[in-house]
Amino acid sequence: MPLPSYHDAGPVYVTRQAHFNAAHRLHNPAKSAAWNRRTFGPCNNPKWHGHNYVIEVTVAAQPDPETGYVVDLGDLKKVMEDRILSKVDHRNLNEEVSWLKGVVPSAENLAIAFWRRLEKHLPAGRLHRIRLFETPRNFVDYFGPHGAPAVSE
Ligand SMILES: [Zn+2]
Repeated sequence: MPLPSYHDAGPVYVTRQAHFNAAHRLHNPAKSAAWNRRTFGPCNNPKWHGHNYVIEVTVAAQPDPETGYVVDLGDLKKVMEDRILSKVDHRNLNEEVSWLKGVVPSAENLAIAFWRRLEKHLPAGRLHRIRLFETPRNFVDYFGPHGAPAVSE
């Protein structure tokens, strides 16, 4: 007898959280030193500073009828490690990460870069949101180039 199916239940959103530590400097080389100091304040420190980042990756899909999973979280963890964490953890984001070259490494820009690193490499489902905490109180959300999906009733 087949298992009861939730095939018409709509998408479920599954999130995996991870941590990394990294150094950076907010600096726009197209602007003057004074503009950078004024705009970025202590985050423009030429001697760098660090953050304990928290990244949350949310994947959406209808659960697979055989496993009940949207995505195997072990597979998602591995992709996050391979594509992002192994490249940024304990690194200088301005100088050591090839795919961040020329990017002001604000939390906003990091969220976009991480989306682009992950989008085509998910083991299942579609990428719904990258949430990146730079501090426990400051975080950004990125939902891809079309923004947050409209909430339907
Ligand atoms: Zn910073």
